[in-house]
Amino acid sequence: MNELIATLRAGKSVFVLTGSGISAESGLPTFRGVGGLWRTHRVEELASPEGFARDPVLVWTWYNERRGAHERAQPNAGHFAMAQLEDVLDDFTLATQNVDSLHLRAGSRNVLELHGSLRQARCTHCSAGRSLGTAGLPLDEIDHACGGRWRPDIVWFGESLPQDVWQRAREAAARADVILVVGTSAVVYPAAALATNYNRRAFVAEINPEATPISNRVACALRGSAAQVLPRIVAALSSGETASPDLFVRPCG
Ligand SMILES: [Zn+2]
Repeated sequence: MNELIATLRAGKSVFVLTGSGISAESGLPTFRGVGGLWRTHRVEELASPEGFARDPVLVWTWYNERRGAHERAQPNAGHFAMAQLEDVLDDFTLATQNVDSLHLRAGSRNVLELHGSLRQARCTHCSAGRSLGTAGLPLDEIDHACGGRWRPDIVWFGESLPQDVWQRAREAAARADVILVVGTSAVVYPAAALATNYNRRAFVAEINPEATPISNRVACALRGSAAQVLPRIVAALSSGETASPDLFVRPCG
C-alpha cells in the first residue's frame, strides 16, 4: 500500500474504474440482485432492446424497482472517499459501470457513466430525453408522442457504449499515472479494457474482496471492499502516515 500511496502522491493523473462492488455496502448487491423480476426472467429479457420491444411494461416494472432501490440507497464510505480523492488530485477521472448515481450523490464531479444512468429516459425514435422521478416512469406513459417509446437511458446487452463517454474514458485511462480498479471483476468488455488495455506504464491497483481475472496482472491487489480500503488510502494520503498492510495479498511496497 505504501508504494500505492507514494505513487498517488507523486502522480499527476488518476483514472478509476468502478463496478457494482462499490455499491454493495449501500445495499445494492449486484446488477441482478436489485428488483425481484430477475428471479423469474432472464436478464436478457429485462435488459436488451429485444426484450424491451417484446414487453416494455415488464422491462419498466423492473427498472422502476431498481430506480426506487437506488433512491433508497445511500452512498457509502467508499463513494465518499472517492469524492475526497478527487479533491486532492489534479487530474482525476472516475468511470463507472454503475447506473445508480451514488458517485454523484457522494460528491464526485468528473464522473463518466459508461452504462448511462437511471436518472433519465430517452425516446427510442426521436432520442428526446426526460428525467425520471424517484418512482421511475409511470407505466401508462411509455409511449412517446412521436410514435417511439421511452426507454431507460442506459446501455443494454448488445448495445455500444456512448461514444463520447467512451472516448473520454479511454483518454483518461491512457494518460493516467495511477489506475484504480474498484469493485469490478473487470470481465465485462469493453469497459474492462479500460483497466489494462490502454496504458502499459500506469501503476494499476485493484480493490476487491475477491480475486479477479486481472489480479495477477496488477501492481497491487487490495483484498477488501471499497468502503474498507478507500478511506484508509485517503487518510494515508492526507496525513502522511503509512497504512497497515493486513488487507493485502500482493504487497504494494
Ligand atoms: Zn420520441
